[in-house]
Amino acid sequence: MATSEQRVALVTGAARGIGAAVARRLASDGAAVGVLDLEESNCGATVDAITSAGGQALALGADVSNADQITAAVDRLAKEFGSVDILVNNAGVTRDNLLFKMTEQDWDTVIAVHLKGAFLTTKAAQKHMVARKYGKIVSLSSISALGNRGQANYSAVKAGLQGFTRTLAIELGPFGINVNAVAPGFIVTDMTDDTARRVGVTPEQLQQAAAEATPVRRVGYPEDIANAIAFLTSDESSFITGQVLYVDGGRKMAS
Ligand code: NAD
Repeated sequence: MATSEQRVALVTGAARGIGAAVARRLASDGAAVGVLDLEESNCGATVDAITSAGGQALALGADVSNADQITAAVDRLAKEFGSVDILVNNAGVTRDNLLFKMTEQDWDTVIAVHLKGAFLTTKAAQKHMVARKYGKIVSLSSISALGNRGQANYSAVKAGLQGFTRTLAIELGPFGINVNAVAPGFIVTDMTDDTARRVGVTPEQLQQAAAEATPVRRVGYPEDIANAIAFLTSDESSFITGQVLYVDGGRKMAS
């Protein structure tokens, strides 16, 4: 989606899955992209895909829940590419279990990566955006925000990110910054493949069950989410802020 000038985007958790697809899409729309994941060395495939298509990308290694690491990574991107205009808070993990079996560690890990990670990354990025009076922030929520058996920790953070999004839309709107969330349904990635193995079915069986429970009768792919985020980070959505866009093939309504 074309913008009038080159933007600099940061996508967290961009070594694979949804984050990788978002990074590739924003780059193909003209942004220079910071490809951030836990290990810089794991970002190579995404960076190569972008640069071999003629785009600009920088691999960044950081744990989003570590204040020093994420602040250094955001500042390095701003220094090397000149600004941070777009942030996609995508990094995520699951530690699913029924509440009575969920450990304190399962709870703390999911809260730290999704909620503390989005807080620290957004705090580090917004100062660059405020200085230029321009910014687009999108965080990954989920249909699990509405409740999902075995995901008390994950649904809590995905609902929390919706409140975070609405609040930052109010705080940052006067500085030219749009803040929205995308809430995917079932998207085929390593994360959903791991879920299949954990519940004792094959990824294909879980995908078939998910497709049958979805009004459009298919599962989603990372590109479906990248399409929505491309719009929400483009200048064409500049009057949209504080929204949660469900990209789920209608599954939210069918559940
Ligand atoms: P994925 O597991 O395939 O990829 C997640 C990426 O995040 C990995 O590369 C991982 O290394 C990285 N990551 C994890 N912890 C990190 C940390 N502390 N710091 C930096 N990077 C870290 O997952 P995915 O399916 O692509 O999911 C991406 C996002 O979309 C997540 O926030 C997830 O909760 C959300 N989501 C996914 C689905 C789905 O069906 N796949 C549905 C709804 C929401």
